[in-house]
Amino acid sequence: MKIICIGRNYAEHAKELNNPVPKKPVVFMKPPSALLVNNKPFYYPDFTQDLHHEIEVVLKICKNGRHVQSDFAHTYYDQIALGIDFTARDLQAKCKEKGHPWEIAKGFDGSAVLSPFVPMDQFESSSIAFHLEKNGQKVQQGNTKDLIFSFDEIIKYISQFFKLQVGDLVYTGTPAGVGPVNIGDTLKGFLHTQDGTKEMFHCAIK
Ligand code: ZN
Repeated sequence: MKIICIGRNYAEHAKELNNPVPKKPVVFMKPPSALLVNNKPFYYPDFTQDLHHEIEVVLKICKNGRHVQSDFAHTYYDQIALGIDFTARDLQAKCKEKGHPWEIAKGFDGSAVLSPFVPMDQFESSSIAFHLEKNGQKVQQGNTKDLIFSFDEIIKYISQFFKLQVGDLVYTGTPAGVGPVNIGDTLKGFLHTQDGTKEMFHCAIK
């Protein structure tokens, strides 16, 4: 199982970090050991002083495939979840400055918070609304209608390089409003469904 992540996939978020809006998807990976499920707490690592939350919609790959074409891309995922792409922003800044890979800033243990999955068929993939609360305050909200690269464009692009395999996860990028978390904070991710707003996960920072 692999965890493929897309960076800078909402224009407002690219701007807030002074990054250009990309012409092709920005892709990185996290190892399976990054997963944090079942509302387990996250232990603040000692290698960062600037840990940031990034709420994202996550796709679960349901079919093996390579070189997937746009028309068929939607058949490669059938469930979605919400997750957090925890980022050590200070380490990432150093990596970017030196032109180094981001793994130590993004792939550390527990850096991929993941909620349970819900079937995709209750959603229109082009307009899924979601938000993140920190200590009860809304800090990020997004809608997949604002994605620079749609789910299907992401599937098409990444499958040129990596064989998609059943169970792989795709973190599809974060909207604006990323910010620091501290020990004692609680994060909660919400998905806006036909039946109202649903809490998908919570995560206490310890
Ligand atoms: Zn992210």
